Formats: sequence, structure tokens, C-alpha cells
Amino acid sequence: MYAPPGVRTDPAIPVPEMMKAWVLGDPEELKLVDKPVPVPKKAEVLVRVDAIAICATDLDVVSSGPPAMIQGGTPFNKNFTPGHEYMGTVAALGPGVDEFRIGDRVTVEIHAGCGQCKRCRMGMYTSCLNYGLNYGDVDKGHRANGFTSDGGFAEFAVNNINTLIKISDDMSDEEATLVVTAGTSMYGLTELGGLIAGESVVVIGPGPIGLLGAAVAKALGASPVILTGTRDNRLKTGLELGADHVVNVTREDPVEAVRRLNGGKGVDYVIECSGAPNAINEAGRMLNRGGKMCLAAFPHDPALIDVAHLVRNNIYIYGIRGEGRSATHRAQAFMAAKRFDATKIHTHTFMMEDLPTALRYARDRVEDAIKVVVKMPRRAAEQELRKAS
Ligand SMILES: [Zn+2]
Ligand SMILES: [Zn+2]
Repeated sequence: MYAPPGVRTDPAIPVPEMMKAWVLGDPEELKLVDKPVPVPKKAEVLVRVDAIAICATDLDVVSSGPPAMIQGGTPFNKNFTPGHEYMGTVAALGPGVDEFRIGDRVTVEIHAGCGQCKRCRMGMYTSCLNYGLNYGDVDKGHRANGFTSDGGFAEFAVNNINTLIKISDDMSDEEATLVVTAGTSMYGLTELGGLIAGESVVVIGPGPIGLLGAAVAKALGASPVILTGTRDNRLKTGLELGADHVVNVTREDPVEAVRRLNGGKGVDYVIECSGAPNAINEAGRMLNRGGKMCLAAFPHDPALIDVAHLVRNNIYIYGIRGEGRSATHRAQAFMAAKRFDATKIHTHTFMMEDLPTALRYARDRVEDAIKVVVKMPRRAAEQELRKAS
């Protein structure tokens, strides 16, 4: 029986002592093992994982390590469980937790800051200065599940209460896994970018963050919203999600096209989600003077930048590392209000025991996969039953 001191459980949501979890061995090596179910501490709960989406960053973690950092180094052969875009059911409460009840459906943010460093005190908990400093005798309370602490490719995970967002019963498990992606786009536009209604936005790169970036920008009242990319079917999804215009950059010069579509002028914001080496220069030329660019993807090699153009035009540049400032809560509110249909980016579903296949679909974009969601067999069976009854 799972009964750690001070932790509350409920027979309605049974918690075993051991669970199945995927752990990272050598690079590209994932093993399904038995692990003890983790124990929530103060201000933490145990989440029973019901579904989890695969992110491009998971692929980076599994193949090369960063941005995951375990015990001050790479995450390999440390019994570490990756995966960060999950949702599930609250299964146990840590000491003193009364903000959630066992049985609540929740989706998660990734980062719980330490709460005591300068950035956390500013509310920038995703930029916590104690990132990853929880090993040996050091416990800073920082968590970035799937990066510096165990993540969601497992039956259970521990989350700080500040990383949980309650979801209603009419949001599907699959849609709930997409909330944090929408929250990341929203953080870039509003909290970091200061977007207000009526301003013009370009999104470069129709990956998950870019597509939901177009959707969130439109929901926030941006006008026009222009999406650029290389694949027509993804651009079409962008139109369905709310982009006013799309530009296929294999057929048109993106800078000229953006200026033409925006009445001959540069735009107020560019969100760069492609990671293409020259994208930062193109973004600079799409912007009007004093415009802002959010860098949400990274080229694997250093990029050559036309600094003079940025300086002469008072361009603001900022990076974004995941979600922040509770933007995820607001993104969830938009999704609950059906302001956009995030499930349009969900293309494939696999069971948890097929995780390696699911990762391959995401990495190789098999059948043009965008978001691949992995579900628990138990959960899938429950939903089949409900549909049948
Ligand atoms: Zn992610
Ligand atoms: Zn901190």
C-alpha cells in the first residue's frame, strides 16, 4: 500500500507502491522499468498521468541531453523519466495541500520555480536562478518536470500546486495536453511582448508553438495575423486556427509578402518558431521600427545576424523558454471558451507502451505528424466504456 507519512490518498483513485515508467539510458535509449511511485512534499500533489503530448524538446532531451539537466549534468543513465506535456488526475495530496482534491482533472505547466530567487520573486519562475539545483543535499524546491525532475512518461508524477490547471470534464485528455503549448505562445505574445488588440503579428514556422501562436494571437485580437512556412497542409491548419493570411516561403519572398499583406508596412511583432538560421534577419525586416521579435526556436549552430539593421530600427529581441507568468491558465480559459480548436494540431495517438514508436512519428514527421499524444491504456479503455454506455 502507498501510504507515505503526511500524504492523503482516496480509495477512489488507487495508488500502487510501484509504477511503470520510461527511463533514459544512453542517448536514444528508453527503457520501460518499475519505479517507486514518487511522494509529494509540501505544496505538491501526486498526478496520475492520463495522457501526454510529445514535444520537439523531448526529442532533443532523448537524443542529446540539454535542456534537461540532472544532478548538474546530462540526463543519461540516471533513472530519469522525461516527458513534460501531460495531463491527468490528482491522486494524492502532499502535507497541507487543500487547493486541490483527489479526483480533480488537471493539466500541468512545466516549471515550478524555487520561489526564493530574484527571478521567482519577480514572477519569472520559468527563469528561476536555481534551475536544476536539486541534488545531493541541495533542495531548492525547483522543478522542471521532464527536464530537471522526473516527468510524465510514467504512470504517476509529482507536481507543485502552482503548476496545475484545473480542466473541465468537457475538455478531452488530448486537448488538455496542448494547454501548455498554447500557454507558451501566449506568454511570448502578452507577458513578454505586451501585445494589445489591433496590433499586427507574423508567426514564422507552423510547428505546434507557431500554429497555436497564430491561434492565440487571433484570439487576443491581433490584426492581421500572418503565418509563414514551407508546407501547404500546415499553413492550411494555420488558417483554420485563425491566421488571416499564410505565406509559403518556397514560392514567395516572405519579407515582401508580409509587407504587402500588411498594407505596405512592417508588423508590430514577429514570433520566430522555425529555428532557420536566417529567420532572425527576415524577422528583423518584417518588423516596423520599434517592433518586437520573440525567439521561440533555436538553430543548432550560431547564426549570423545583421545587427546594424536591428540597431537602426530600434528592434526589441527576447527569447522565450517555455511558459510563464501563469499564461497557461489564460490559454486554458481561451480553449475552454472554444476561442480556437487546439485539437487541430493533434494528429496521432499511441499507447504508453508504444512510446518509442510515438517518438519516431514525432521526430520523422511520419504521416505529417504535428502533435503526437500518448495515452494510458487504462484511460483509453475507460473512455471506450463511457462511449459505449
Ligand atoms: Zn514542450
Ligand atoms: Zn527561483
